[in-house]
Formats: sequence, structure tokens, C-alpha cells
Amino acid sequence: MDGTSDGAELWRLTLEHSPIGMALVGLDGSLLMVNRAFCDMLGFSAERLSHLGFQELTHADDLDDDLVMFNQAVAGEIDTYRLRKRYLHADGHVVWGDLSVALVRGADGQPLHFISQILDVSEQYEHEQRLEAARAEVEHEHNTLEAIFEAVSVGLLLIGRDGRYERMNRRHRETLSLPFPDGHRGEAGQLGHVYFLDGKTLMAKEDMPSYRAVQGEEFDDYTYWVGEDPRRRAAFSASARQVRGPDGEQLGSALAYQEITDLMRAMRVQDEFVSSVSHELRTPLTSVLGHLEMLCEHDDLPPAVIGQLEVVQRNALRLRALLSDLLHVGQVGEDRLQLQRAAVDLTGLVGDAIEATRPSADKSGLTVEVDAPDHLPADVDEQRIRQVLDNLLSNAIKYSHTGGRVTVVLRETPSAIELQVSDTGIGIAPEEVALVFDRFYRGGAALENHVSGTGLGLNIVSSIVAAHDGTVTLDSEVGRGSTFRVTLPHPMG
Ligand code: ADP
Repeated sequence: MDGTSDGAELWRLTLEHSPIGMALVGLDGSLLMVNRAFCDMLGFSAERLSHLGFQELTHADDLDDDLVMFNQAVAGEIDTYRLRKRYLHADGHVVWGDLSVALVRGADGQPLHFISQILDVSEQYEHEQRLEAARAEVEHEHNTLEAIFEAVSVGLLLIGRDGRYERMNRRHRETLSLPFPDGHRGEAGQLGHVYFLDGKTLMAKEDMPSYRAVQGEEFDDYTYWVGEDPRRRAAFSASARQVRGPDGEQLGSALAYQEITDLMRAMRVQDEFVSSVSHELRTPLTSVLGHLEMLCEHDDLPPAVIGQLEVVQRNALRLRALLSDLLHVGQVGEDRLQLQRAAVDLTGLVGDAIEATRPSADKSGLTVEVDAPDHLPADVDEQRIRQVLDNLLSNAIKYSHTGGRVTVVLRETPSAIELQVSDTGIGIAPEEVALVFDRFYRGGAALENHVSGTGLGLNIVSSIVAAHDGTVTLDSEVGRGSTFRVTLPHPMG
């Protein structure tokens, strides 16, 4: 075996065992010799391939590119070229190949044939395609979120774990100058013209929403005013959420600020309206009641007239009760609910309240039961606690069916006094339980059944109980009845 045949044998072995598809290609494109990897790649036998040219194995869309390079090589313009192209498998599917072609010249320099190496990159190609599709999707998602982030009318802010502002949207940038007219350092907790809802108390660092968020807090509807000039202030409601990594570690915080200036002003206008109307109406009504009383003292009036005057008086008294409810609400709105505490026997107070409602309870065919100790002294505002009792009792009667039962329980525990008013009435729907203490809220059943009311009774109850540092809770079941439980901290507790 001479050197040449040694070389040929080496070449044959290399060709045969290479994991890469290899072919000897004639200048006309015919496949002079192919290796096993090449056959496996395209699903043809070597015999079958020997009758084919690379042109027939190439995807029609990629043939022109290949031919341009091939012809340049045949013409001697280039010696090698590389191409990523599609081949056609025997069963018709596409195989992506990374093709490297080298021209072999004879001793005289004339082109003899080509050596082509083809790496099957179908998997890699598919992977790349999937990656590209995923990247395009991520980008689309990113662009969509970016557009929403910038377009929403809610201020959005992302803060890093170290308290540094990482991102904010247009809305947040626009509103930043109101609390921070001298600029913002981009760090959570910077003090500015940020006030609590009273509009007077400036927030300390620990109260600032951004600072609280960085401390890991999550909250909703944290409301405050910003801006030094009270006429140009804006009110905001802020929410915070923690941004966490895959293992739950805290990466930062996200804050959303919604402007609620219009709502706050509307609420203030409502408070002012309620307060001024009730004040304005009180004086003429007091005069009407005074004169009515004087009129009724005349003993020479015909009985029919006295009857009519009594109707007028009853309605004027009802008006006065409504006005006093409105006045009460106005005072709470202005933070002016002041208590006049004194030693009061609650058992006596409960007895009086029940006596006063007895006529309407009788009229509705209701029994009223009471379970209380003989005496229960407490240091409370007598008039206001009486109002709590009146409101709870009148509701229990209003929202009950004939034949029902109203029960009042008064108890003392070592730390508190408990007052419970229960009824066997219509009950309150679960979704309304949290709303019934809101100002002017009237339940669906109350409206449907045309039960008269203003929606102020329970709001007054809760404000009076809160002023006594107590709590009021409600258990109710539609069709079964309701229990209102007032807990007042014990004077000795
Ligand atoms: P008002 O009775 O004037 O409507 P309230 O503030 O006293 O206003 O009560 C608010 C709402 O709560 C009522 O409209 C009614 O729907 C519901 N409610 C209050 N007390 C009871 C009760 N004892 N039973 C059933 N519903 C009640």
C-alpha cells in the first residue's frame, strides 16, 4: 500500500465514520460519494443518492442561493462557502443543514470536485425558532405592559429593596411636584407636603406610603392630601404590594396612587351641606314647636283643631329628630363629637328606652324582653348612649315581622360592658353587613319594603360607640334576625 492509497483509505474511514454528513460532489452537482451520516440525515441509501445531485435534495426556496455560490466556486471565484439551507428528507420533511463546501483542485489548479460537510441543525433551528417566538412574545407582553404602565391614570411606582425608586410612570412623574416642589431624590420616605386626611398634620417619614411599602407593608386605600397650598391640593388613595422573587424573597415594592380629590371634595361638600341645612332649619323649627306648644295651651280650641294641631306637633317633633340626626352626622364629619361623661345606671337607661319604644312595639305585635342586672353603673354620655339604644331598638322593631321578639341583654364582664340588641326580624344580607354602618346607607330590603328611614341610625350608633372607645359588631342571617353587640370598655378595666 503506497502513500496515496494510505491517504485514500484514511479519507474513506474519516468519511464513513464522521458523525457529520459528508459528500463528494461533482462539478455538475452529482453526488460522487456520500457517507453514512449523510444517508441517515436524509433517509436515502447511498445507492439511491449516487443517482442524485444536490439540487434535487435542496428545498426549492434555498436552491438559488446555493447555486449562486456553487457556480462562483465552479468558476474559480471562491474556494469555499458556507450556507444554512433546507434539505428534503426522503419522507418529504425538511432537514435544516449547516453546509460547508470546499473546492478541491487538481495539480494543474483546475477544479476537480467539492467536499461538502453538512451538520444537521434542525433541532438547533427549531430551538432557535421557539426561542425567537418566546422572545417575540415576551417583547409583545413587555410593550403591552409598558403601554398600560404609561397610559393609566393611576400613578405607579416601583421601589427597590434599598428604598431607591426604580421606575415610575408618567402619571406619577406629573404629580410628584405637588408634594415635592423642590424635587425628589428618588428615595422612599423623603418628607414633603404630605398631610393626613385632616389636611393639617404633616406625615412623618414612617407614615409615608413609600416608606411603609419599603418596610414590607402591604396596604390598600391609604388616603392623604398632598400639596402645600390648600386650594391646589390633591387627595390620593395609595395601595402597596410586595414584589417577590421565585423563592418568596422580597425584591422590592410596587405602589399605586389613585387621585381622589373630586371624591374628597364631594364628600366635604356633602358634610357642609348636611351641616348647614340642619343648622338653618333648626331655628325656624324650634320657633314652630314653641308656638305650637303655646297654641295647644289654649283651652278654648275646638277638639278637631286640637287634633290637627297634635298631628302638626307630632310631625314637627319627627322633623326635629331627623334634624338632630343630621346635626350629629355633621359634627362627626367635623371631628367634633364631644362626650359628656357622667355616672349613669345603664339598667335604668335600657328600661327607659324600652318603655319609650313600647307603643311602636305593641303596634307591631312584638314582644320586648330584657335581661339585665338590677343596676349597672357606667361612666358614659347618657344622652348619646340613650340614642344608641333608641336607634338599635327602633331598627329592631322596624325590621321585624308581627309576632316577633326583640331581646335586650346587658352584661358586665371584668373588662367591658356588653349591650346586645337582638331581633327575630328580616335579617341583613351578608354583602350588606359591612355597609350598614355607612352614612346614608339603606339596605335593599328596607328600600324594597318602603320602610322609612334615612340611613343614618347605625352610622350614629357606630360614631357614638367609637367616641366611647367601644366597638359594635353585627351578626345577622336573612330571614332569621339580627344581633347588634355593643362593647364598651369597662370604666374600671
Ligand atoms: P335606616 O334604618 O334609617 O335605613 P340605619 O342606619 O339605622 O338606617 O340602618 C341602615 C340599614 O341597615 C337599614 O336600611 C337596613 O337595611 C339595615 N338594618 C339596620 N338594622 C336592622 C335590623 N335590625 N334588621 C334588619 N336590617 C337592619
